Amino acid sequence: MTCTHCNNGQFNDTDIMCISGVLIDVDEFTEGWQRDIAYPPAPCMCCRVCKGAAWNGEEECGACGSTGWNGGRDLSQEALADHAAREPGREGE
Ligand SMILES: [Zn+2]
Ligand SMILES: [Zn+2]
Repeated sequence: MTCTHCNNGQFNDTDIMCISGVLIDVDEFTEGWQRDIAYPPAPCMCCRVCKGAAWNGEEECGACGSTGWNGGRDLSQEALADHAAREPGREGE
């Protein structure tokens, strides 16, 4: 799962980046992200209907089951794990 739209893109002059479709602070990702929370989808992975707005409960969206994720399934944890596995030296354990 490679992001072709905003990979390594930064958002709003912060350290928040798109990592395999997940919006996360790059430092948090590098140092070890939280495993028990859902991270928001980046623009490339967000629901096309609500543009990810349903993720934080801003609105209800039938297209994504109010997950904010395109396809209706929150992929943040497995996307981050997958990304970390493909980058030797970056371990999220
Ligand atoms: Zn992206
Ligand atoms: Zn939606």
